[in-house]
Amino acid sequence: MCGIFAYVGNRQDSPKLILEGLKTLEYRGYDSWGIAVGSGDEVAVEKKVGKIGDAETTLPNSTIGIGHTRWATHGGVTQLNAHPHLNADKTIAVVHNGIVENYQELKASLIATVHAFVSETDTEVIAHLVEDNLKDSDFKTALCKTFSMLVGSNAICVLNLK
Ligand code: GLU
Repeated sequence: MCGIFAYVGNRQDSPKLILEGLKTLEYRGYDSWGIAVGSGDEVAVEKKVGKIGDAETTLPNSTIGIGHTRWATHGGVTQLNAHPHLNADKTIAVVHNGIVENYQELKASLIATVHAFVSETDTEVIAHLVEDNLKDSDFKTALCKTFSMLVGSNAICVLNLK
């Protein structure tokens, strides 16, 4: 089962905090892990396959970030498939627990509107949907719209720098 850990606040060392948080979720089981933090106009990301126990992070200091330990359901256990997943301009990052049962249908319509995908996961559709929904909504509304488009049992955490 996956784990999600996020931080927003005054501390600059969110990468370290999130890594420590993910380590406390190790017992849930996972095959890979990753962290995204806000860094200027873009999200900075670190993803790894395998054990997190002795891991250290090289991400830049930041006051906001999200992390994930993955238990793969859709797409192999690879660095590319590890979460967080991003939109093309790296302003949105998503971590996800669950299965987006209608991801193939959503992916097909996103590809038709020129969204390029880099992973095999069901999760990546969420980053692209949030990006699309942000075109005519504020962040909270875009998230609600996105979530209502997902079929299945899901929990998501989204970092948005737009
Ligand atoms: N279905 C997603 C994936 O395969 C999330 C799995 C999980 O809950 O860790 O990446």
